[in-house]
Amino acid sequence: MARYTGPVCRLCRRLGDKLLLKGDRCFSAKCAAEKRSGPPGQHGTSRRRPKVSERGLQLREKQRARYTFEVLEKQFRRHYHEAERRAGATGLNLLQILEMRLDNAVFRMGFAESRRQARQLVRHGHFLLSGRPTNIPSCEVKQGDVIAWAPVSIGEEPYEIAKASIKGRSIPSWVSVDVDNLTGRVISTPPREEMDPRINEQAIVEYYSR
Ligand code: SF4
Repeated sequence: MARYTGPVCRLCRRLGDKLLLKGDRCFSAKCAAEKRSGPPGQHGTSRRRPKVSERGLQLREKQRARYTFEVLEKQFRRHYHEAERRAGATGLNLLQILEMRLDNAVFRMGFAESRRQARQLVRHGHFLLSGRPTNIPSCEVKQGDVIAWAPVSIGEEPYEIAKASIKGRSIPSWVSVDVDNLTGRVISTPPREEMDPRINEQAIVEYYSR
């Protein structure tokens, strides 16, 4: 599955915001956005930024969500059309679809330090979704689903790292995690207040509605 493979810290610098894409490194002095403010590139910090139009702001909000969940444009658009098709507010539907991707659920359960790492673990077949081996990061989890480490992965390095670090992770209320057995259950759809407050879903809807 295609994904952005370039340096993710450039995405933060381009948006001028910390997207927290690298796990623990984002909270350390090594964070590139802390060390060098301004856009990336040779002339990034010296060039004056042009005034941004309303359309530009909408695009920026769409990119912010896309970079945060590390989804390519084509797939993001597919998620958007699915959100539009469902009953209720399209913006909230979109954020819930993104939150309930399998890779994001693995990240939210604290089994990985970043969404990027969670996606790699899923791709490598480290998890069972309600008892079935699943290696598709975009697969949507639903209420009642259980995510567990595949028996062959128990004792391997990613499992041991997750076991050692999970107690320090903050876990949202829409999932419950058994930290001793390293299994998680989806108990509800994610409420808006537990999603990233910096994402402006209304601007994303306006961007795609034109
Ligand atoms: Fe962004 Fe994290 Fe890189 Fe800092 S370390 S620039 S927050 S991805």
